[in-house]
Amino acid sequence: MVVIANKGALERALLPYNQPMSARILDGKALAARIRSEVGAKVAARVAKGGPQPGLATIIVGDDVASQVYVRNKRKACEEAGMLSFGYELPAGTTQQDLLHLIDELNNRPDVHGILVQLPLPVQIDAAAVQQAVAVHKDVDCLHPENVGLLAQRGREPRFVPCTPAGIMRLLAEAGTQLAGANAVVLGRSNIVGRPLSLLLLNADATVTVAHSKTRDLAALCRTADVLIAAVGKAEMVGGDWIKPGAVVIDVGVNRVEDKNAKSGYRLVGDVAFEEASQVAGAITPVPGGVGPMTIAMLIENTLRAAELAD
Ligand code: NDP
Repeated sequence: MVVIANKGALERALLPYNQPMSARILDGKALAARIRSEVGAKVAARVAKGGPQPGLATIIVGDDVASQVYVRNKRKACEEAGMLSFGYELPAGTTQQDLLHLIDELNNRPDVHGILVQLPLPVQIDAAAVQQAVAVHKDVDCLHPENVGLLAQRGREPRFVPCTPAGIMRLLAEAGTQLAGANAVVLGRSNIVGRPLSLLLLNADATVTVAHSKTRDLAALCRTADVLIAAVGKAEMVGGDWIKPGAVVIDVGVNRVEDKNAKSGYRLVGDVAFEEASQVAGAITPVPGGVGPMTIAMLIENTLRAAELAD
């Protein structure tokens, strides 16, 4: 007698035989480089016509190592695109009042077109109050409630699209993903990734399900996804058997796992178990080299947009 434990187990057992698939790798690094050089050319043309150089102010509070790396990369990309970069590194003990004072100053500076406050912020600072303090036309991360509202309401023209979700949509477009009518599952509901991304996918006519830590049977839900986006921050949580054969998988997660062979003692992995997932998916983003570089490219694009809004 043959006992089939469940359908997923059967599919898994059959995978090596009927799905010899190896996913197409969606190269975010290459696409981001192309976008950054296009933005750089637009900036050069703007400056040649006598227009002001776009300027981005980045603020980091405290000494979170990962945040410092992200911000350093953002500043570098900004300068490489011919933009001005104004960096503010504030001590961990900075008060909310001091931070709001700095934002007010930057809101009023004509050479600063975009303001980015790197998250997370120390506990004494209310992130929502800070995000609301950034002038709406300088809000390149799109976290001000007015800008989120423009993104959320049907028929509105958003002022900015938040960087990571915008980068994911560009990757999906580049991959030629058919979103209209597709089942899209977004794992994670944060303000910075999951929520705005679900709105963008909805605007693109996908049928969107947003999952989170209280969702029941995530694996079964994920297996319904034609497009699966993982943004949870849990190393390799999404296994190959969570993925519908042929699905497009976007891995947003950036997680450090111990690796004794690496010089640093760790390596970066996503929320998706890449090796097994790429045997099942039709297309997949790597970590690193997928969504991360796209986030930076979109920030540069948003900064140019902010400068154009100020013209
Ligand atoms: P948050 O911690 O703000 O949100 C995580 C989300 O995942 C929450 O909605 C949470 O649910 C959900 N979640 C956590 N654990 C589980 C679980 N076991 N099952 C189901 N859902 C779960 O993270 P972010 O959105 O800021 O970031 C997510 C990941 O993406 C991180 O690894 C981060 O480093 C990375 N990231 C990468 C970027 C890039 O450019 N590559 C940019 C931004 C983030 P609940 O709401 O119920 O708590």
